[in-house]
Amino acid sequence: MGKRETVCISNEEILEQKAFINLIKELNVGKTKKYVLNTFGCQMNENDSERLAGMLSEMSYIESKDNEEAELIIFNTCCVRENAELKVYGHLGSLKKLKEQKPNLIIAVCGCMMQQSEVVEHIKKKFRHVDLIFGTHNMYKFPELLYNSLNSDKNIIEIWEEEGSIAEGMPIERNNSLKSLVTVMYGCNNFCSYCIVPYVRGRERSRSTSEIVNEVKMLGQHNSKEVLLLGQNVNSYGKDLNNVSDFAKLLNEVDKIEGIERIRFMTSHPKDLSEDLIYAIRDCKKVCEHLHLPIQSGSTRILGEMNRKYTKEHYISLIDKVRLNVKGISLTTDIIVGFPGETDEDFEETIDILEKVRFDSAYTFLYSKRTGTPAAKREDQVSEEVKKKRFEKLIIVQNKISREINDELFGMEFEVLVEGLSKNSTSTYTGRTRTNKIVNFIGNEDLIGKLINIRIEKIQTWSLEGKII
Ligand code: SAM
Ligand code: SF4
Repeated sequence: MGKRETVCISNEEILEQKAFINLIKELNVGKTKKYVLNTFGCQMNENDSERLAGMLSEMSYIESKDNEEAELIIFNTCCVRENAELKVYGHLGSLKKLKEQKPNLIIAVCGCMMQQSEVVEHIKKKFRHVDLIFGTHNMYKFPELLYNSLNSDKNIIEIWEEEGSIAEGMPIERNNSLKSLVTVMYGCNNFCSYCIVPYVRGRERSRSTSEIVNEVKMLGQHNSKEVLLLGQNVNSYGKDLNNVSDFAKLLNEVDKIEGIERIRFMTSHPKDLSEDLIYAIRDCKKVCEHLHLPIQSGSTRILGEMNRKYTKEHYISLIDKVRLNVKGISLTTDIIVGFPGETDEDFEETIDILEKVRFDSAYTFLYSKRTGTPAAKREDQVSEEVKKKRFEKLIIVQNKISREINDELFGMEFEVLVEGLSKNSTSTYTGRTRTNKIVNFIGNEDLIGKLINIRIEKIQTWSLEGKII
């Protein structure tokens, strides 16, 4: 791929969308219009939904959780696994009656699923009550598309096949004012043979360092304490830009920003994990001691067929280097069980790497066939029964390791960023260590947003309990 300057949507185009925001705002004067926004998938989708919410807020829409009182229901979809797609179809089906009762209700579907033409055809045929469909590349045009939908009886469908430029300067309403999501790059060039993301999110496009730094500075000034820098493969940040930047340099820049206390990032691809990045995690004071480094499989043969471009041995050597340089770092990973052609021996290699590396935790997935990817065309698919058996074994092994690692934390002291009340409690508060462990403790409201020290007094597999010291 050739080098390019950061290409952003022009100011004129952004202003055009802001003009549509104002037109809808005028339509809404004196009315209380509510919307329900359903988000599926990863944090990048969540961040996109925060932008949709920002636009809606400027149009004077109010968020609601209740479909019955909404004038607008949006689904921001994910297509990484079949389950997420089926959930969206289920929701759309259940809205048919409501749309009959409320013909002015607008039902919109957007995001990754809409970049697949067969999905759009299916929705057009089976869910005729959907009013508005748009994709990932033209999300910034939501105000114009919504305005057109409000002023037309016809279904509005606009999908761009090719990724466009990056849209900067659109409004955003964040779900969490303490911990903020900041997308640093879009798309993916890796084409792992099981994965749909490069087809629906396009090629890698990095935001300029100055845009990212300005966004984080604003967050720091508005009491955000933690930023999570997002990209499908943050380690290749900057490769598509002309200016000399990479992810390690970006971390160093963000580390200097006042107000922000913690920096996290995801996801890192093992093939691009550089020494400079390891040193940046070690040396940048605010970068937390946690690395999410998806391995996907412990079998070098399967990794080759997945097009991951590293071996089991290389992955282990990376982990050794990371642990040598960043004391006490916690490690998490993603694993796919039942990739086509995975034998019992291959699966045992995955169990073996879990035992060798000893991850703090692992996100485990059953392989899901994604139309259009090379792995979906293979005839040696693993049966659902075998996949499930392997999956269950994997979870038992990983849970034991996670518990043993947590057991070692008993009596230790950690800095915790206090996030708020623990679910269903009036006195137990919750927060996270720099290593991303959940810690629950008895506290009070004044502590929210503060960094406090806690001694661990009780261990569970997925969380810790402690006392303020
Ligand atoms: N870009 C990140 C990476 O390479 O690690 C992750 C992106 S993907 C949205 C998150 C995880 O979903 C992947 O790490 C992989 O484990 C899982 N995944 C992707 N495609 C899948 C598929 N077809 N079936 C099951 N899991 C899948
Ligand atoms: Fe998918 Fe691989 Fe890209 Fe991650 S790196 S988004 S798994 S293609």
